[in-house]
This record gives sequence, C-alpha cells and structure tokens, in this order.
Amino acid sequence: MQTASETTLGNYEHLMLQHASVGIALVEAQTLCLLSANPPYQMLFEPLWQADQVLGHSLRELLPEAVRAQVVALFDHVIQTGLSSQAHTYQTSSPTGGVRYWDWALRPILEGEQVRFVHVTLTEVTAMIQAQQEVKQMQDTLRQDHHTIERERQRLSDLETILLSVKHITEPKELAHAVLTAVDTCFAPEQVALYGKTAEPETFLLLAARPHVSAPDSASPFPTTLSSRQHPELFQAITEHMSIIKRTSEYENARQAQEWRFLPQTCCLLALPLWEAHCEGVLLLTLRAEAKPEVLLDTLLTCTPRLAEALASSHMHAALTNEKRRLHTILDQLPEGVLLVEARTSQISYANPIAAKLLGLGLPTLMGTPLNQSAVLSPYGHTHQVQQSIFRWNFALIDALWGKTSIGQELVISRADGSEVVVLSSVAPIYHSQGLISEAVIVFQDITAIKQLEQHKETFFAVANHELRTPLTIISGFVELLQIQNRQQATPFSTYALESIQEECDHLLQMIQDVLNASRPDQTSLEVHKTLQDLLVPLKASITKQIQTTTTHQIHFLQEDLLPTEQLLAEVDLPRIEQVVRNLITNAVKYSPIGSTIEVGMRPRRNQEGMAQEVILWVKDQGIGISACELPRIFERFYRAGNIDRSTSGFGIGLYLTRHLVHAHRGRIWAESTIGKGSTFFVALPLGIMAQRI
Ligand code: ADP
Repeated sequence: MQTASETTLGNYEHLMLQHASVGIALVEAQTLCLLSANPPYQMLFEPLWQADQVLGHSLRELLPEAVRAQVVALFDHVIQTGLSSQAHTYQTSSPTGGVRYWDWALRPILEGEQVRFVHVTLTEVTAMIQAQQEVKQMQDTLRQDHHTIERERQRLSDLETILLSVKHITEPKELAHAVLTAVDTCFAPEQVALYGKTAEPETFLLLAARPHVSAPDSASPFPTTLSSRQHPELFQAITEHMSIIKRTSEYENARQAQEWRFLPQTCCLLALPLWEAHCEGVLLLTLRAEAKPEVLLDTLLTCTPRLAEALASSHMHAALTNEKRRLHTILDQLPEGVLLVEARTSQISYANPIAAKLLGLGLPTLMGTPLNQSAVLSPYGHTHQVQQSIFRWNFALIDALWGKTSIGQELVISRADGSEVVVLSSVAPIYHSQGLISEAVIVFQDITAIKQLEQHKETFFAVANHELRTPLTIISGFVELLQIQNRQQATPFSTYALESIQEECDHLLQMIQDVLNASRPDQTSLEVHKTLQDLLVPLKASITKQIQTTTTHQIHFLQEDLLPTEQLLAEVDLPRIEQVVRNLITNAVKYSPIGSTIEVGMRPRRNQEGMAQEVILWVKDQGIGISACELPRIFERFYRAGNIDRSTSGFGIGLYLTRHLVHAHRGRIWAESTIGKGSTFFVALPLGIMAQRI
C-alpha cells in the first residue's frame, strides 16, 4: 500500500518528468522497446510518429533509417558493456522544418549482472549549436574581411612606397633607380627594368634594370633599347594603352619567341606602358613562376599615371638641363662678361669666366652667392668709392629683378687688387612662360681700353689743336700785315699770293676745327645760329664762286622749277649750309677723274597748292662711286670706303660733319651711287612757312 506522501512524491516525479526540458525515457534492453518517455522525448520521433503512439514500440521501428544503425549501436554498446555512454549533437528534422540537435546520455539499469533497462536522457542543444554555428559563420566572415583589409593595406603600402620613391627626383636615371628599388621592395620580382622615351619615335631606352637581391650575380637580361621593329607585340600593346602579362609557355609562334627571347624560361613577364599625354616609358618585370601577376598588375596600374607624370617631368627637366648646359657653354665663350641671378633665391646662378675676371672674383666664389652678399665678397676695406661701384651693378640687377631694363650704362668696377675696369653694362629681366620674372641678366663689356684710347685721343687733339693753330694764327697775322703793307706796291702776283696764303690758312684752320669737332661731337662747337632768310641767292653765289675756282672739273649749276624772282625762305645758318654744299662739291672733285663733269642742282619740293616745302640740293659726279654695302657707312666718323686711292687727302670726317649740320637744320641727307659710274648726294632742307611763289 502506498502512503499519502509516497503518492504525492510519485505525482511530483510524474509532473517533473512531464515538464522537464530534457527528454527522459526508459528502454527495455532486450527489445529496445520504449517503455516510458516524457513528452520532450516523444517529440524526437515527430513527425514520423505522433507523440502518443511511440510507447511500446522498439527504437528500431521508431528511429528514422538514417540514424537508426548508429543509435542502435550506441544502445548495444551500453547493453553489452554495462557502461554509460554519451552521444553529442544528434541531429533530427523538426516537424516545422529546420534542424534540431540533441545530446544523448545512456545509463544501464542492471538486474544482477545483466542490463535490463537503459535509461535515456536527451537534451536539446539546437539553440546552442545554432549560436555556435552563427559565431563560426561570423568568425569566418570576419576572417575574410580581415584578409581583404590586410590585402588592401598591403596594396596601399606598396602604392605609397612606389609613389614616394619618385617624389622630388628630377633626373631620369635617378628616378628610374628609385622606382626599381621601390618595386623591388614591394614585389620582389625576379628582374625589373624601366625604359624611358627617346627623341626617336617608337624607341625606348633602358634607364635602369636590376636583378632581384636574391640573385645578385645574374646579369640583366633586358635589351638596352625597345623598338617597334624588334618588339612589335609590345608596341601594339603600348599603342592600345594595354599592359601585357606574358608567359614563356604562351608563345604562339617563332616571331613572338624571338621578341621575348630575353625572358628566362621559367618566368612570367609583366609589361606596363606608362602613359601621360604620351607614352613616357615602359616598366618590365619578370616574376617567378608561382607569382600572381594579376595582383601586382592591380597595384601597379594604380600608380602608372603618377610614374608617367614623374617620368615626363624628369624628361622635361633633362631637356631643360641640357639646354641650360648648351647655353652656358655658349656664354662661357663670349668675350663679354655675363652674370645671371635667380629671382626666387636672389642668388648668382651663373657667371662666365669673363664676368669673374672683370669683377676680380673667382668663379666658385661667385656661384650661388646671394646678391646682397656679393658686395662683401671682396676681402678689402671698402672705401666709399669701391662700395659704390660694387653696389651699382648689384642695384642694376635688383632693378632688373623688379622688371627694369637698362642698356649701355657705364660703370667703374674696383677690384680686390685695387685695379679698376670701366664696363658698359646692360641689365634685363628674364621672364618665364607665365610672365613672371625668373632671372635677371647683366652683361659687362670691358671698355677700359677704349676709354683709355679716347683719353689719349682727347689729349692728342688738344695738343694738336694748340700746336697747329698757334703757328697758323701767327702766319695768318703776318699775312694780314703783309697785305696792309702790300697795298702801296701791290703787283697782281703778290696780291694773288697773299690771298692764296690767307685762304689756305683759313682752310687749314677750318680743317683743324672740323677734326676737333668730329673727335668731340658731344661738346661740339658745331653750333648753328639760324635766321630766317632767302637761301636761293646767297647759295647760288657761293656755288658760282666754287665753280669759278675749280679748274680741274666741269661744274654745271642747274636750277629746276624756280622762277628768277622766287625766294626760298628758310631758318638757316647760311655759312653752315654753304659748308655743306662745299663739302659735297669738294668730295665730287676728289673722287671723280679730272676733266669729268659735276652737276650741282637745286629744286624746291612743293605741296599740292604749289607751296615749296623743302629745297632739294644735289651734287652729281661721274666718279669712282661707292659700293652698296659701304654706302650706309660713309656718314660714319672716320669711315673711308675701300675703293679710294689712299693718297687722296682726307680724314673721313667731312660727310660725318655734313650730316651733323644737315640734321641740325632738321634736314635729310642721302646718297645714291653705282660703283665705277658715279654718285649723287642729296640734301633736303625744310623751308620756312613764308616760302611761296611770288
Ligand atoms: P674724306 O673724303 O675726307 O675721306 P668724307 O667723310 O668726306 O671723308 O667721305 C667719306 C668717304 O665717303 C670717303 O672717304 C669716300 O670713300 C666716300 N665718298 C664721299 N664722297 C664720295 C664721292 N663723291 N664719290 C665716291 N666716294 C665718296
């Protein structure tokens, strides 16, 4: 008989079994018949078996075929050994779909030595397993993300290494070496080479190549040039902006094998054209057989534009450097001193040997010296004068850096050894393409010798003037006295002789004055004192007088387009105009054969109303003429043409002074000439407003 408390306990156990979260069952060992099972356990067989139908059936019937043998073996082991056993994460299909997981625990119940029953505990671990699976999945995803991030980080680091390698490098070969070192560090290729474009189209020149550090002894297999003729496939790819991945096994024909013959047999080649506006170069890499060229390509393609840009600027820099070197070589040979100052730094960027010599400073001292320090280069005490002369060329350059140009400025440079040079300096700013001043240049021409010569000449003329004038003045004075005395017993001969001496004296004095004037045109006494007067009558008289005194030539006077009563009013210094005509007639006589004809003419140039605006004078001879190349030079001081007889008197100053006088009257002078046939000299003088027909 059961007591009340036993009954209560039994009910309580029953309730616990019913509502426990684990499945509990009792199985008969011999038949594997399910004797008792709580609901969670019975649910195990759903949906094949309804929960209330499973009791009394063998597990062999109840279990789905897929797991039956495995579970039965588990039970058999417990029954035969009498030992407990466990099985984990047993998987079943849930009736509502999806998968459920269980942990089994089998415990034998013995009767004597024999296992009579097996007590089964079943714990559902679906949630836990699913959570584990989710965690695993998340871990996998994270691992994958991490891998991707790590790859990207590596790629960015490689990119940074390569791009930083080209920063601030401007020399092509140096740049190529830096790129190769970076590529080597990042990808450790078997071999790598960088080619740069050349002046020749479709030809690239090897700038640098290196075997990988693991093979330091291997010589570079790369050819020194790549040309479209020898590497057609590569050039085809270059034209199409394409990269090439080439494996030796992929050669399609003998021609390709020939083109890529420099590749080692085991290698794979990567060729990347570096395009900017033009293809600036080609990067070639050979990789070990196991390497993944696509991964490299991905990174390298990202940096090719920047590499191309760096190559382009280095090519431009190289061209500029060459051009600069060429220019400096030319400037080095110049007889003038040349000095350049860079606007950005105000430093002397170039000085040629003559500049250094003129300034009395060594070339190495000058180069790179800031302009504001160049004044203190000379280690001597600065007198006021010295400082001034140094600073004057410095200031000229500073002005040029501010855009000021000055030409032909005379400077005295005092040098460290105390000597002085006189230079003619010109300074100018040099602009670069954007219109900004990049440099300033100063050119010095040493004119010390010229200055000294001028000084000597001055002294000579001053002495000559005095030494020649004094006796002439004395002769002239005595002639005048003789003329006075002669009046009583004058004979035609003595009168003629004294007049001739007087005339020649005057002529000589005039010549001395002319030579002096020509030698010092700036302080010239060739002043003109113009008055408004008629030119026609007195000029005609002066020409007539000269015609009468000339016995060697036939001189004809021609007056065109002028009425006998007409006046040519002009603001002139008449004796000077007479001197002009006389000079031209004297030259015509000097440079044409004796007995030949000379024509002296005068005609007005009128405006539409018939008013005379200018008077044109001309002297035409049939003499030796002047060559076309010398014609523009005959008005220069001391210039005498090559075709004259050197015994002909003259200093080459007559025409120089004549032009000076004509210009002083605001007139024009020019000549037309044919060598061997003769010359015509023209003078045009402006007439006064009163000039008109009367
Ligand atoms: P000069 O006659 O004293 O040499 P000029 O100044 O008068 O100097 O003339 C300069 C040069 O021009 C002459 O030396 C001569 O070569 C050339 N010339 C001037 N006039 C004539 C001319 N009528 N015919 C040919 N040559 C002339």
